[in-house]
Order: sequence, then structure tokens, then C-alpha cells
Amino acid sequence: MAGNASTHEPVIGVLALQGDFDAHRAALERAGARAIPVRTAAQLDDVDGLILPGGESTTMLKLLDYENLFEPLRRFGAEKPLFGTCAGAILLASEVTNPPQPSLALLDITVERNGYGRQIDSRIAPIELAQGGTAEAVFIRAPIIRRVGPQTKVLATYLDAPVLVEQGRHLAATFHPELSNGGNQIHNLFVEKVKAQTAHRPSGGRDRRKQ
Ligand code: GLN
Repeated sequence: MAGNASTHEPVIGVLALQGDFDAHRAALERAGARAIPVRTAAQLDDVDGLILPGGESTTMLKLLDYENLFEPLRRFGAEKPLFGTCAGAILLASEVTNPPQPSLALLDITVERNGYGRQIDSRIAPIELAQGGTAEAVFIRAPIIRRVGPQTKVLATYLDAPVLVEQGRHLAATFHPELSNGGNQIHNLFVEKVKAQTAHRPSGGRDRRKQ
């Protein structure tokens, strides 16, 4: 069975209601995972982790509501890793401003939508990694992380604001890691988190009790 602990090839979904699937798929495959698009709650049972891609967060919220995916995603995130990028990070945040909007509240950060305004708007820029060194990041009308909770770890910053954070099993980036030419390190990090989480579960993989 692909995706169980013995093959070490986790299956990672990319929420495909809106936004970029293909570039995430390619990056996940380079990182040693199998990637599948997720459009329904039932498909969540088939994946070990999920990427919430960039796009437009208010549109995504409407689509999540329309597809009855909001609560299933929250339940998924209570057990399995989520990686929110840009609009996906806005969906994961515990608090959203400019303007306020509902969110999954699975990661303790406050994000301000379009928070860089004209300061950077959209650009490719080097971010500072907490482990040392820099990486190239693509920002597209990015949110700015204004607050991180006590359990939230900052893994990278840009202009002194956090741009890559983790809390437990979840990861959020305000940029688009799938669009960098600079390497695969952010997707590698998420795949490692998914593998670590899968190894902890007695079933060694996805929940097969449900149909
Ligand atoms: N500005 C968008 C929002 O608020 C996010 C932009 C992106 O995902 N590239 O939803």
C-alpha cells in the first residue's frame, strides 16, 4: 500500500478548490511524497497531510462552505499535518484582520491580509532562516504575521516579520514555496513533518476505519 510507513512515501493532498495544484505536486514529488488533489471531505481519508495553497482566502472560505469542507478540515487538522501557504496561512490562522474573517484557527498567529501593502506588494526576496542562511521566497499580495502565540515557532523572517512558522504538526508560510527556483527545502520540511506524524500513529498511515 503506497503511503504507509513501510514505503516511506506519504500521500499528501493539495486542496484543489482554487489555486495552484501542479507546482505543489511537483515540489511534493521531489520531496519524496505522492501528491493528490483534494476536493471533497471523503478524499481527506486518503491523505496523511494536506497543503492549503495560495489563492484568495475569502473565495476559498466560500468554496469551503459550499463544499461542506470547513468542519471536516478542522477535524483533519486536529489529527494530521496541514501546511498553509499564503491564503492557506490565512485560513489556518487563529485571527485574521484587514478585514476580520472566519478561519480554521489551527495555528496561533494573527495575520493581516495584504499586510505588506505597497511596501512589497509582490516580489521575490531572500528570507532569513532561523537555522542560519537565507532562501528565496515569492510573495504575492502576502499577508503579514503580526503576532505569534507562545507555542508557535518562527522558522524564517523577512523585514523582521515571521514568514514561516510552525506549531506542532502544522506549518504556515506567507509566501509561495512552490514557485521558488531556489530549492525544495520548505516542501522537504513539510514532508518530514508528515512522515514523523505518520510514524507515531499505530496504524502507520491513514485512517482506514472509515469508508
Ligand atoms: N491576498 C490574498 C488573500 O488575502 C492571499 C494572496 C495569495 O495567496 N497569494 O487571500
